Amino acid sequence: MSTQPPQTERGWYPLFHDLRQRQVLVIGGNETAARKIRRLLAVGARVRVVAPLLEDDVAELVEQKRVVWLGRRLRRWWLRGQALVLIAEASPELCERLHRWGKRSGVPVNAVDQPAYCTAIVPAVVDRSPLTIAIGSGGQAPELARRVRSRIEQWLPQSLGSLAALSGQLAEDIRGRFPELALRRRFLDWVFSGPPADAIQRGQNDQAAALVRQALDRQSLETPARVSLVGAGPGEPELLTLRALDRIQSADVLVHDGLVDPRILDYARRDAELIDVAKRPGDNGVGQVAIQRILIKRFKQGKRVVRLKGGDPMVFGRAGEELAALRGAGIDFEIIPGVTAASACASYAGLSLTQRGMAQSVRLVTAHCERSIDRLDWPALAKDRQTLAFYMAVAQLERIQQQLTGHGRAADTPFALVENGSRPNQRVIVGQLGELALTARHFQASSPAMLFIGEVAAQASEFHWFGEPPLCMDTGELALVGHAANLVTLRATVLA
Ligand code: SAH
Repeated sequence: MSTQPPQTERGWYPLFHDLRQRQVLVIGGNETAARKIRRLLAVGARVRVVAPLLEDDVAELVEQKRVVWLGRRLRRWWLRGQALVLIAEASPELCERLHRWGKRSGVPVNAVDQPAYCTAIVPAVVDRSPLTIAIGSGGQAPELARRVRSRIEQWLPQSLGSLAALSGQLAEDIRGRFPELALRRRFLDWVFSGPPADAIQRGQNDQAAALVRQALDRQSLETPARVSLVGAGPGEPELLTLRALDRIQSADVLVHDGLVDPRILDYARRDAELIDVAKRPGDNGVGQVAIQRILIKRFKQGKRVVRLKGGDPMVFGRAGEELAALRGAGIDFEIIPGVTAASACASYAGLSLTQRGMAQSVRLVTAHCERSIDRLDWPALAKDRQTLAFYMAVAQLERIQQQLTGHGRAADTPFALVENGSRPNQRVIVGQLGELALTARHFQASSPAMLFIGEVAAQASEFHWFGEPPLCMDTGELALVGHAANLVTLRATVLA
């Protein structure tokens, strides 16, 4: 019969435990016990051990009188007054007994690598004391938690601890100088990412403290006020640049388009103001001039403003108008590029846009509206040995097909239409230019989508790696649908 209690669903409440001068009972004398004991001693706990046998490392700690070895078998009264019982090694029966006792008495019991016996879990820790990052998986995947830890370890500079200590030392002064939270946060941002942080990274802790003190004495707060124009990429959050992520996380106000993926907006602070200026079918959204007014007004209120645009802000993003308005108002800006849809969709559909022997250039083309589409240089676009990447093309497929074939591009030129590129619902539709509109209609293609035309589009079937394989119509279907379409045209003509 199994002695393990049934694994019911449990929530874990993360908590940091003050163990200074408190008693901790460790069960087991092996290598794991030694590791746990060292950590407990490091936070000031008084550790006692119960184990039938002590391996070298624990024996050494006992010899050094840093740990007391109570005995070989657990006595009930040793449990009294414990802040924590940590099981490094014990029989299932003993684990079970301690687990039940722990639940009854309210004393946390942790059994290493045996979540079923735990009433408390020790997380994996990234230690930048006093800054401590704890990572838990509710006992379900400790190995995964450890992997996450090692990634965070690499990511966070060792100097972070000094930075945390510095802000701790000066916390009261900072609070006194900036009683208002928003201003205090702005000041701390400057401390954590400005010159003081740089000084700490160079190992000049005193210099960092001096800089902060000087800044506290100054009358006005100098923060690098500006508007950030940020590219949010095609959707997949991991395609953001590190700097884009930083600006999104520290923004007071985020003014964003409809194309920006909600998962990216989730990176914003909980108290950040999110302004959606998306155009939706049937309405024109917030007009361009109104957007510019919002940017300027929020900036003048002292806010850190991020203008977040899908893809790259400088590609079909009307950035020029916004930049001109900011410059006109004397407001500094920065521009952070993002992965533009043409590039993201090509990668996620496996198209090598300038494949040797197939294409010598790529053209980024907008098919936005009826009026502008007819002003495109169709004879030039119809030339071969180039890849065309059309943005905003879904409503204009028929036009594009007609114009290109009409100007001499071969009807069997491959196309690939990439819908929702890089997102979980990505679809790729492929075929030949002569059947572009028909195929797209058949699969009910919708926006946002990138249309690629050119020899390289055929690579979508060859180098597919993400999401579902490309969709295409077989010849039978094409003949059938083509026939039906002809009938519809015929009927329309007759009726007219
Ligand atoms: N600044 C953006 C483009 C804005 S125009 C950029 O650099 O990507 C809007 C058009 O971009 C859409 O109509 C569509 O053609 C394309 N687009 C944006 N995101 C896309 C995505 N995830 N998948 C496919 N097309 C996308």
